[in-house]
Amino acid sequence: MRMFQVCVCGQPLRLNEQPTPEPKGTEVLLKVLAAGVCHSDLHIADGYFDMGGGKKLNLEDRGMKLPLTLGHENVGEVVAVGPDAKGVKVGRRVLADPWIGCGTCPACLRGDDNLCRTMKSLGVFSNGGYATHMLVPHPKYLFDIGDLSPERAAPLACSGVTTYGALKKVPTLKSEPTVIIGAGGLGLMCLALHQKMGGHSATVVDVDPAKRDAAKKAGATHVVDGGAPDATQQIMKLTSEGAGAWAVIDLVGSSASARVGYDSLIKGGKYIIVGLYGGDLTVSLPPIPMRALTIQGSYVGSQHEMKELMELVRAKGMPDVPVATRPLDEVNAVMGELRAGKVVGRVVLTPA
Ligand SMILES: [Zn+2]
Ligand SMILES: [Zn+2]
Repeated sequence: MRMFQVCVCGQPLRLNEQPTPEPKGTEVLLKVLAAGVCHSDLHIADGYFDMGGGKKLNLEDRGMKLPLTLGHENVGEVVAVGPDAKGVKVGRRVLADPWIGCGTCPACLRGDDNLCRTMKSLGVFSNGGYATHMLVPHPKYLFDIGDLSPERAAPLACSGVTTYGALKKVPTLKSEPTVIIGAGGLGLMCLALHQKMGGHSATVVDVDPAKRDAAKKAGATHVVDGGAPDATQQIMKLTSEGAGAWAVIDLVGSSASARVGYDSLIKGGKYIIVGLYGGDLTVSLPPIPMRALTIQGSYVGSQHEMKELMELVRAKGMPDVPVATRPLDEVNAVMGELRAGKVVGRVVLTPA
């Protein structure tokens, strides 16, 4: 098998080859059909997240082992199953839920693998799908895609379930406007799922006019330039009674986006942070109780949410998000384009 791996943090991925593994125990071997390129791949390749104030969260300290095959948005065809892998057949096309926990802690036993303290996520802490083949440790992490196209289904594994998990945290989804900060791949997915979930209306915020246009075309009720000096006032004017937003989903997660998002809340509002751009936010404490504000983090999604998302897509159709396919061998170029902010929607790699 061939795979593109992080060998040294901060350097381009390297093409390596090794014998294709035989699945053992409950493992399932997939031939990769489609692997989405996610913004967090850039951070994983760099080896750290920016914690703000010059501090870094080093991923090797957190258990990331090199060399590592990136790629956590994967669809593959089952080509071999271990002797204990039940309920999965060779030839099936499946989405791999990459958010895999230890399997034994209380969070994992509830199906909240995304809250496990020792995650083994595919493409983050174990080898992912920027490869011709990949191993998935258990069939419970596989979801049949039926006749969905592999390249359109692949982004559901991260961009899909991450935005679905965030939208599920919005109590006012169906009754009030929701503000979505960021109109990149994640933002357009969030907007599309918001509609499929019966969302009231969406105001999308982005600093890039091309991305605002894409959001407008994709059905955003309003768009706001997040870089405008009065961005907060504009958002507040467009949401509940001109008094602010009941819910802001921040898919960027920078110091600037957090400032705009948090400051746009109405009394009782909720700021949900998803993006991992990095930075920090200073907030005054008294307004949190006095205005009953919530700051909530949302990390990918649980197994239940992945299952619900697949059911939603089956019932309401695939989210209409721009997807471009590129050969796996172009992975380093694609990551460069993503880093330069040149990607609208999602790029999905297809092994030749
Ligand atoms: Zn991702
Ligand atoms: Zn666990």
